[in-house]
Amino acid sequence: MMQFIDLAAQQRRIRDKILANIEKTLDHCQFILGPEVGQLEHRLAEFVGARHAVSCSSGTDALLMALMAHGIGPGDAVVTTPFTFIATAEVVSLLGATPVFVDIEPETFAIDPNRLEQVVLSLARPDRAKHPLPRLPAGHPSPPLKPRALIAVDMFGIPADYARIEPICEANGLILIEDAAQSFGAESHGRKAGAFGDVACTSFFPSKPLGGYGDGGMCFTDNAQVAEVLHSVKVHGQGATRYEHVRLGLNGRLDTLQAAVLLAKMDIFSEELELRQTVAERYAELLEPVPGIRTPVVPRGMKSAWAQYSLVAESAAHRTRLLERLKRSGIPTVVYYPIPLHLQKAFSTLGYRKGDFPVCEDISERIFSLPMHPYLSFEEQHAVAAALMI
Ligand SMILES: *Cc1c(COP(=O)(O)O)cnc(C)c1O
Repeated sequence: MMQFIDLAAQQRRIRDKILANIEKTLDHCQFILGPEVGQLEHRLAEFVGARHAVSCSSGTDALLMALMAHGIGPGDAVVTTPFTFIATAEVVSLLGATPVFVDIEPETFAIDPNRLEQVVLSLARPDRAKHPLPRLPAGHPSPPLKPRALIAVDMFGIPADYARIEPICEANGLILIEDAAQSFGAESHGRKAGAFGDVACTSFFPSKPLGGYGDGGMCFTDNAQVAEVLHSVKVHGQGATRYEHVRLGLNGRLDTLQAAVLLAKMDIFSEELELRQTVAERYAELLEPVPGIRTPVVPRGMKSAWAQYSLVAESAAHRTRLLERLKRSGIPTVVYYPIPLHLQKAFSTLGYRKGDFPVCEDISERIFSLPMHPYLSFEEQHAVAAALMI
């Protein structure tokens, strides 16, 4: 049976190394913030080209910590995309701030920079005719919400358009957060994913490009002060000494055992990125003759981390037919994401409606992802293409 993401194939390559690293941790018994945690932070900061890396317990906590470190809370608007995993906007609402969604670009599935200036203007003078804003129930801080931050998501491994997003954030005083949960290892114009924005956040969920054997995450920043606050937030708002607390924080640490596993995986990570690129190129060739599907578009100057290989069908009905064919051939698929965030029940209090973000809504009805991992064979990919051709 073909795997959607084959973690076992990777483990066969590096199992000895992983076991050796775990054994080292068992020997020193420093399970909380042991030496491997600092080693991993150092190594990933260097890889990304960021001055500081602060590890944490998940990609979700990385995003939460980034917002907490900037004091985001009630009355604040955080601009983001409705086409992402729930965590991106969930953390905004958990802090009492308000997610303000902006539609996506149809090709990269990332937030559309063309719409950003308008949303900031619309927030200053609430104008729903120009941009769909949350319809907040009575009792909420009365508008205008203060635009404070923007979370851009590098969807499926392709960096968002930071060349255009960064100046807009700068001009409008918005804190920029890069959600690099899917893009660790990607590049844009010579800069690595994880190096954009005031803080970048990534995830080590097992199926992400750099995945651990459990939950984990990391924040990256060039700002020493922000890094210090992130370190504090991650450990209950700790001050200069252990039982001094200067702010409210989290129990947000990365386990030493996860750091030990991730260090072993980093040894082959660059090679795995190249293997993913080869797999993606093979898909592009094999799928060329398949009528009516759109293969991924990586903009010039960018390299995807290929967290996912996502196709867009001609229509919702066409997707249904393709998914059925793949299933009959024993090929696993996933739909990321079938329900845009603005239409999720969890965000119903924001009062968004169907039709507010038409590009995102249309894509969510037509998109689906194929098996993608560094160890996918030509034969397997050929079988995928053949199933789509029937
Ligand atoms: C996976 C993911 C997260 C959350 O990461 P966890 O480690 O699972 O908490 C956040 N944003 C995006 C875009 C993701 O894909």
